Amino acid sequence: MAWRYREGVSVALDTKLSAVLGDRSAKALQSAFGYTLVGQLVAHYPRRYATRGELTSIAGVPVGEMATLVAEVVSVSTRGMRARTGSVLEVIISDGTGLVTLTFFNQAWRAKDLVPGVRGIFAGKVGLYRGERQLAHPDYELFDERELTNTEGEEWAKRPIPLYPATAKVASWQMARALGVVLDVLDAVPDPIPADIAAAEKLMPSKEALEKIHRPGEEQDWRQARDTLRFHEAFVLQCALVQRRIQAASHTSVARTAGPGTEGFLGSLPFALTSDQQSVLAEIHQDMAKPHPMNRLVQGEVGSGKTVVAVASMVTVSESGGQSALLAPTEVLAWQHFRSIVATLGPELAASMNPVLLTGNLRAAETKKALLAAASGQAKIVVGTHALLSERVTFADLGLVVIDEQHRFGVDQREALRQKGTHPHVLVLTATPIPRTVAMTVFGDLDVSTIRMVPSGRQPISTHVVALGDHPNWYPRVWQRLAEEVAKGRQGFVVVPSISPSVPEDDDAVDSSQEASEEARVLASVAETVPLLRGLPELSHAKIEAVHGKLPSDEKDAVMQAFSAGDIDVVVATTVIEVGIDVPNASVMVILDADRFGVSQLHQLRGRVGRGEHAGVCLLVTACEPDTPARARVEAVAATSDGFELASIDLELRSEGDVLGDRQSGRRSGLTLVRVTQDGELIDQARTYATRVVEADPRLAGHPDLAVDIARRLDEASADYLAKN
Ligand code: ADP
Ligand code: MG
Repeated sequence: MAWRYREGVSVALDTKLSAVLGDRSAKALQSAFGYTLVGQLVAHYPRRYATRGELTSIAGVPVGEMATLVAEVVSVSTRGMRARTGSVLEVIISDGTGLVTLTFFNQAWRAKDLVPGVRGIFAGKVGLYRGERQLAHPDYELFDERELTNTEGEEWAKRPIPLYPATAKVASWQMARALGVVLDVLDAVPDPIPADIAAAEKLMPSKEALEKIHRPGEEQDWRQARDTLRFHEAFVLQCALVQRRIQAASHTSVARTAGPGTEGFLGSLPFALTSDQQSVLAEIHQDMAKPHPMNRLVQGEVGSGKTVVAVASMVTVSESGGQSALLAPTEVLAWQHFRSIVATLGPELAASMNPVLLTGNLRAAETKKALLAAASGQAKIVVGTHALLSERVTFADLGLVVIDEQHRFGVDQREALRQKGTHPHVLVLTATPIPRTVAMTVFGDLDVSTIRMVPSGRQPISTHVVALGDHPNWYPRVWQRLAEEVAKGRQGFVVVPSISPSVPEDDDAVDSSQEASEEARVLASVAETVPLLRGLPELSHAKIEAVHGKLPSDEKDAVMQAFSAGDIDVVVATTVIEVGIDVPNASVMVILDADRFGVSQLHQLRGRVGRGEHAGVCLLVTACEPDTPARARVEAVAATSDGFELASIDLELRSEGDVLGDRQSGRRSGLTLVRVTQDGELIDQARTYATRVVEADPRLAGHPDLAVDIARRLDEASADYLAKN
């Protein structure tokens, strides 16, 4: 990379890269990574570090991927090509695991440098040639062994070599060189961390941390530098979230206080709230009694009684004439919520609050009636699907927005609903337990309430792993068990990962690329399982139907309604049934190829059975070998019914991106060094500091460097994301 730097230009984080590196190099970095500013380049941290004595292994790099190897040249030879004129230079290098061949066409001159015994870094795309891994035309940089002869030799040898995330166009050492150029001329870097915190946490000054993470003299340097920069990341994000939260809370809302109506409602329930439900409802009441918007996430297992708490909150809002909207992810769930709200309210309240349903499938006249009831304020509760978000839907006085099953909705949708009122209170319900650290980073501007206990009297679910690899003859037993439940008048679910052998239910099953090496296995599918079950003598009297994501939604709904009404005995489904469906008579769930699902997902799925008076059984069928990560996931689900424990296991077993979801993955939240899976303590600590700093000085007038850093780190997209959360 050529570079240019004009004397007298002061280089800061917001200096354009082209001013320091020249246009060509700057363009290369922009097209490879989208970087245009010095601050972006210096935040391109090494992926890891190698030492010169070390050899790195190609064995783990999949064919077709970029590999960066520290290796030694073993032998060099030139041969002619059979079909064409010209020659091939073949260089065999040794990495940690064996020999790798480098090939160069018509570049015999390279043999001059690539002599046996020389070490260097080699980077290229891993290809296969006659079954052997090779790198064709790799980039490389040889270590200058002459330096070893001087007195600094030893120090040089132990200096870590940063290995950067690279692309085919820009190799790791080209990044290192560009960074070297920039770091040589970089002015002082403002420190976002208030001095007292930096001192207490023994942090390096910013500039030194950048220097040492990119150009460490020894291992200790980059470790300390990384700790400092990781703290910066966690702290700055938390400051941004705390600021958002304070800002959101500063809006003016109508205070809603619980009065006799709410008390009457609670007294009319056929059960007493659990103590968890009581304390969550108390938190909600406290929030809503303030003239500022509530932003609260309530998490609790399926069946823990979140809906009742939400309905009580709606009753509270209605006491001052306010309306509530409940947004559900599917038509079936909207219906289910609607029916259960009507039932829960009892005839008197249902008559006065007049709940209405708004979905895409209503007839025109019904829709018109519902729209009118919402707009006039006559309906105090409006339940619906995304149809609620339509511009035609207006409210007279929207006081509370309730969102069920948070992860199914984008932030934009939540925002669209919120816009229909004047800073309404917002309650988000989720049945996916969210570990604290994730809640703090992803939902850092929401208050979180947790319902841990499930109402007593709930039937236990016994979960068993059916490992076909160990016991192939157990398979028929699975269907016998299903048939036994059906014979007793119960109903059952059979969940499979794909729709047909060639059509996966793609958005939901776990992407198991880590198991890519595993021989392609045909997964259990709806298309094959339905005829299989219909053909079994023990199920010959059972009515068996299918549900999956490719069915038109009215067909899907029709099947689920029929199942719900008891007209269907067994439903064979993909994960479309995961969310909230409530069929108390369902007592058995069979999950085929259970290893294809995530831990939390399996837990969610089995929550569909054992909801009524009958004990639930869940059979997790897998062909996975023992001691594989996939099998471990399945075993974990069988071993405990604690959703929170499973959520943290999920966090350990799955990657960050999986856990946070695409929209919320590291880049969006500005995290590159912080790992929500591992850095819980750090996030906690950063939160405490951030709260202290921002509450004392919400506009950060006394911390200009911090304010600038927040603005710089949150690119437009993520700032936007935070604003809407
Ligand atoms: P969630 O929304 O958390 O999945 P629901 O609110 O739908 O749970 O409650 C599931 C079932 O448990 C409902 O039938 C509800 O009436 C019942 N329920 C809720 N709270 C209690 C309680 N404290 N005691 C007994 N039953 C309860
Ligand atoms: Mg629910």
